[in-house]
Amino acid sequence: MEAGAGAAAGFPDSEYTEKGVTIVGSRAEVFAQADIVLQVRSPGANPDGGAADLALMRPGQVVIGFGEPLTAQEAARGLAERGVSFLAMELMPRITRAQSMDALSSMATIAGYKAALLGADSLPRMFPMLMTAAGTVSPARVLVIGAGVAGLQAIATARRLGAVVSGYDIRAAVKEQIESLGARFVVLAIEAGGAEEKGGYAKAMGEDFYRRQRELLGDVLAEQNVVITTAAVPGRKAPVLVTSEMAMRMAPGSVIVDIAAERGGNCELTKPGEAIEVNGIKIIGPLNLPSTIPYHASQMYAKNIATFLKYLIKDGKLQLDCEDEIVRETLVTHGGEVVHPRVLEIVNAIQS
Ligand code: NAD
Repeated sequence: MEAGAGAAAGFPDSEYTEKGVTIVGSRAEVFAQADIVLQVRSPGANPDGGAADLALMRPGQVVIGFGEPLTAQEAARGLAERGVSFLAMELMPRITRAQSMDALSSMATIAGYKAALLGADSLPRMFPMLMTAAGTVSPARVLVIGAGVAGLQAIATARRLGAVVSGYDIRAAVKEQIESLGARFVVLAIEAGGAEEKGGYAKAMGEDFYRRQRELLGDVLAEQNVVITTAAVPGRKAPVLVTSEMAMRMAPGSVIVDIAAERGGNCELTKPGEAIEVNGIKIIGPLNLPSTIPYHASQMYAKNIATFLKYLIKDGKLQLDCEDEIVRETLVTHGGEVVHPRVLEIVNAIQS
């Protein structure tokens, strides 16, 4: 392990050496010595596109980590050229036997929790209803748009803090999940049949659909104190669901927490990585929320990636058996080539 790799997350080197880990002085040494490298951010998910790490990699090496394989084509080509077998955690199939390896869900859980806290912290009101000698405090109204893993956790957290919560998603299947958390499911008069793909992800819809959705959401939004947006479509820019005009219909002091900021944002006003204020409305566009709760983000990620590694090792050797759905779906590069059909399609489309 690279010296100090866990320190900022609350895990000193001593905790690793106690378990028998060899600590090496530099990142370069880790790459030089390891047959398999486990990372948080692999090339593609690194700000420099992974150039520094790519230079350290060698043919036959196996790298496992987050690598934004559906958007970072340069990195995919770079990994193939280095002869590396890269397995992307983002591509873990959403099937029951892979659940304990699903790092996207782990990170989304943390992001959703933190989004609700950011909303509560930035709002000039309290979340719960309180009956005090100084009068009754009315509860905050929170709307969560997009009720996937992050959205459901944001709903649960806002409920625990006592807010009156509503949830909306394009996938009607989430109605029961939202209601089981004590929130109201928002129904819009819009036909969204077939909005769900295999694996539970949302499909990209046409611009007409999104326009109608925005029109209908405007009225719901105007009644909220906090709006948390989490809507995403894998491999695409996030759909714009909150226009500037819609945001301006909210009462002064209201807050929008847009955790789709990493994919451009669900709110037109969002500035990724910034918290801004427009006409008294705060718009927060946080990036990499899991890194703000590093202890549990590390613990959960470690469990996901270790389970995956153990799964790949059979009879003491790492086996990349492409007959296996989990391997086939996550393997991006192998034998000097991009081998993942969806990634290859994107790489080829850009080259032609
Ligand atoms: P995600 O991060 O890709 O998207 C977040 C949410 O945004 C989704 O619920 C999506 O439907 C919603 N969304 C997209 N476009 C929208 C729009 N225009 N308006 C409103 N909402 C919109 O999704 P995710 O959190 O990764 O989860 C997606 C699904 O996968 C969920 O059903 C989840 O339960 C399922 N899942 C299954 C497993 C498993 O079976 N192992 C594991 C994790 C998640």
